[in-house]
Amino acid sequence: MNEKIKLSRRALLGSVAGSFALPAAARAAVGSGTDPSIQPGAPFILTTWDFGPGANEVGYPILQSGGSAIDAVEAAINYVELLPDEYWVGYGGVPNEVGETTLDAMILWGPTHDVGAVGCLKRVKLAISVARKVMEETQHSLIVGDDATRFAARMGFEETSLTNLTSQTKWEEWAAKGIKTDAFDPEPFDEDTLKGHDTVGTIAVDADGNLCVGCSTNGREFKIPGRVGDSPIAGAGAYADQDVGAAVATGNGDVMMRFLPTYHTVELMRSGMSPEAAAQAAIKRITDKGYKFGGGIAAASVDGRHGGAKAGWEDVPFSYSVQTQSGGVKYPIA
Ligand code: ASP
Repeated sequence: MNEKIKLSRRALLGSVAGSFALPAAARAAVGSGTDPSIQPGAPFILTTWDFGPGANEVGYPILQSGGSAIDAVEAAINYVELLPDEYWVGYGGVPNEVGETTLDAMILWGPTHDVGAVGCLKRVKLAISVARKVMEETQHSLIVGDDATRFAARMGFEETSLTNLTSQTKWEEWAAKGIKTDAFDPEPFDEDTLKGHDTVGTIAVDADGNLCVGCSTNGREFKIPGRVGDSPIAGAGAYADQDVGAAVATGNGDVMMRFLPTYHTVELMRSGMSPEAAAQAAIKRITDKGYKFGGGIAAASVDGRHGGAKAGWEDVPFSYSVQTQSGGVKYPIA
């Protein structure tokens, strides 16, 4: 952890108590995903999808030993980014239209509301760690494309191919069909033709009450080169407010980013809604405009209430998992 964060945390200690000074309605609201084993003020970590339990097992020990929420979020997401067979996050997955895998990631540190993000990062595996460098080492919030790769090299990251046998084979099979990317399909008002995508989203609160959120993805299969999705956009792919809580999104980012659904979720939680009701309302805002899209949101308040919602994924088992001092629990979203 660099000096900027250390100072920020010290400066924040006084206001952390305020983190728990939620409106009475918010304290009383209980979402269906509430884990009764989370004591207010106890550390916890939440991660989306099936890789959630494994990611939480990497991140939670950091919190348990008094470590920072930002270290827990980074470690949990690095675990998923480096899974050799994970197609939707990190290297070796979701090639774009010309066969290259590119990464989007963001991290937001609650105590300072500082954000770092990379979009269309090429040839560097640990996108969330590069995003953290953007946050901690620069005044910028988002760096993209080959320039993000050059920034990563300046920060000491290794440049390496993000292609593996799976992504190469998938792309060759798709390219052999000679069809256009679905990115040129009509907007999804009749149906969502988009099939291939996923994002890891992680929320953590440490023993000092500090909140951090992060997300990382290789985006959308066979996307147009240069496409950046919702994940590195604050309020779209992820959002947090130290006084309230955090939310992470996954799904059709090209649609979801138009609504800043994680910002919306956190603001509804601020007004007293449970995380589950807030996530449902943020999803409904999108479907009310007529979009047929597949997507999900998971959210948690700083005092450990959590919940989620999804749209259009009848057959897709979207879930999030939470790990606390009493172990890990997976919460499927119906
Ligand atoms: N939201 C991501 C994107 O559109 C992909 C996903 O989470 O499914 O880039």
